[in-house]
Amino acid sequence: MPKRADLIADIEAQAAFLEECGAGFLVGERPRLSAAVPPAAPRSVPPRSERLRRALGAPGGDRSAAPGPEAGTPQAATLPPFTYASFDELVTTIRGCTRCALSRSRTLPVPGEGSLTTGLMFVGEGPGRDEDLQGRPFVGRAGQLLRKIIAAMGFREDEVYITNIVKCRPPENRPPHREEVEACTPYLVQQIASIKPKVIVTLGATPTSFFLPMHRSMTDTRGRFGEFLGLRVMPTFHPSYLVRNEGNRELKRMVWEDMQKVMALLGRK
Ligand code: URA
Repeated sequence: MPKRADLIADIEAQAAFLEECGAGFLVGERPRLSAAVPPAAPRSVPPRSERLRRALGAPGGDRSAAPGPEAGTPQAATLPPFTYASFDELVTTIRGCTRCALSRSRTLPVPGEGSLTTGLMFVGEGPGRDEDLQGRPFVGRAGQLLRKIIAAMGFREDEVYITNIVKCRPPENRPPHREEVEACTPYLVQQIASIKPKVIVTLGATPTSFFLPMHRSMTDTRGRFGEFLGLRVMPTFHPSYLVRNEGNRELKRMVWEDMQKVMALLGRK
């Protein structure tokens, strides 16, 4: 089984081009791409980021064949266009997806649920056993805690959008492999391109590594707004970490502090 650190290293490499785009950095640490700064020598983007580059560049039509931006070319840090006919079509595509091996072991795919016009999106790692059986995100123990947090923030569940980095359950709840993340994140990028949330809350290391590939550790990164293609990203601990450390009031306090920053940004505090 791959170690979580290996997974994070993979995702970081996969998302290297995001750094070149000036996307995925902590606010205040934006890499400078202006003419005043000598452009970095073009870096060759690892082949494995090709799919994601396509997703961010031009995912329309035959979404596996659309050309992406040239490697090493700084891109405008903006969301790509939404290229499906409707959000329903995107969800139907996810439900029928066979792009990676997870599609063969899943019971039900878990596209996500909630408001399609919300300012607030939560992104976890991937469905667990309960989610796989029900086809809904965050319905197990960790999910119940997440839903309590959402209620405490003053939102109904149908006022936010909840989804995951991968839409099918990794066997034994292992972290998703690099190629699984690669196959699936174009769907996430399209969900974001359609919903255009004001804030994305990343739950734990896997989604945080996708959105903010330059992040160091969750302890360093949580509670500090980052930016991804022009959207605010708030990394916080995964609710399952809180469940595993039930007696740790400090962890709960930190997550609540992070959510208060999100509420303030959304004018809810
Ligand atoms: N953990 C996740 O990351 N996502 C879910 O949907 C459930 C548990």
